[in-house]
Amino acid sequence: MFKKHDFRGMEFKFQPIPTDFFNSDTHAPFENCIECDIDLIETQSEYLVEKSVRRLMGTDAVEVLFEYAICMGCAQHIREKMSTESRERIDQHIMNRARPQVHDLIDDQLKTCFLSGNDIDQVSEYVVHAHCKGDQLVHSVYPYAIDHAQLEEIAELLSAKSRDEMDGFIERHFMGPPEFAELFSKGKYVLI
Ligand SMILES: [Zn+2]
Repeated sequence: MFKKHDFRGMEFKFQPIPTDFFNSDTHAPFENCIECDIDLIETQSEYLVEKSVRRLMGTDAVEVLFEYAICMGCAQHIREKMSTESRERIDQHIMNRARPQVHDLIDDQLKTCFLSGNDIDQVSEYVVHAHCKGDQLVHSVYPYAIDHAQLEEIAELLSAKSRDEMDGFIERHFMGPPEFAELFSKGKYVLI
């Protein structure tokens, strides 16, 4: 999403990556790209951190369903594997709905869905995306949160071939243990 929807004119600043965007296993910033394994910190690469989160209903607690960091080159490469039609449909959909906003505090930015505007604390499942460079977070329209229901709508815009590519990405990295299978019913996730 970064390259294509570069909301020009929006200013951005850097800050140390907040713990919310750390690797949950190491309690430190992600070190490697999930696809090409490049050392993100040492190379000062630009990358995206994505976390898919489920709210434990009736509580304030959340659990991370899956998370990863992906370098911009690999994210772009995955986008390019989608058919042109799928990409155009998705880009148009996002441009129509996006509500880019920049708050002083990133927590305020994550309170509503980037696409629906709904309160994130009212949805049961959502994703957060952050844009980082080395050990710094780029504060622009990133980071933002997206209601998972919005992501499912986007997944429906994919052609069958593009959906296979996206399911392939998930299967390659997250489908190992059987307990993950229910989390990733096919065709419900798309990297945007
Ligand atoms: Zn990579």
